[in-house]
Amino acid sequence: MIKENVKKILGKLPGQVELVVTAKGRKPEEILEAIEAGVKIIGENYIREAKRVYQVVGDKAIWHFIGIPKMEKHDLLRRKTLKMFDMIETVDSLDIAVGIDQKCREIGKVMPILIEINSGREPQKSGVLPEAAEILMRGISRLQNVKVMGLMTMGPRFGNPEDSRPYFVETRKIFEHIKNINFPNVEMKYLSMGMTNSYQIALQEGANMVRIGTKIFGEKNE
Ligand SMILES: *Cc1c(COP(=O)(O)O)cnc(C)c1O
Repeated sequence: MIKENVKKILGKLPGQVELVVTAKGRKPEEILEAIEAGVKIIGENYIREAKRVYQVVGDKAIWHFIGIPKMEKHDLLRRKTLKMFDMIETVDSLDIAVGIDQKCREIGKVMPILIEINSGREPQKSGVLPEAAEILMRGISRLQNVKVMGLMTMGPRFGNPEDSRPYFVETRKIFEHIKNINFPNVEMKYLSMGMTNSYQIALQEGANMVRIGTKIFGEKNE
């Protein structure tokens, strides 16, 4: 089932769009099955879980951190963790960027990162507010061992995917705005938005990276 789901999605995604398969709560065998069907990038929310899966899957995948840096800070800012991840999609403060930068300098790595935008301006959600994105970007662009590669957003959760559209539109606007500023050391390449129920809308609004779990692995606790 996992393989069929992956092939169906890969078949439908335009060529330049990256699929990040979200792994939270899934077994390593399930992740491996997705990889065998052609998945390249795995998204992990929790460091401990990521390490367990990494022991089995290792370099067969590219690893993205998509969790909440504040919650995972202690584990995230370790050399071993930062060696494991190929991208951190959810940077939303200068503090966390500086932490990543310092540790990555120690291990001689430049970490590709995305800036997470709190496009719904939801107080309980992580991400930088749209109006604060430029200032944050300016600060982060001075760091040598992180490299901003674009933006990520979740947006509020809706039953009707169409309701997500304004949040994707707003994030796209920020993406274009930052791109036009041409900060040194910032390459606005990826726009990561859209999940199982909203990725088609996200693609219409310019996403070139989508993060999908449920549509591949099924609902949890079935
Ligand atoms: C779980 C998760 C997704 C995927 O959600 P689905 O609805 O299962 O496709 C995408 N992004 C983040 C940050 C997630 O935690």
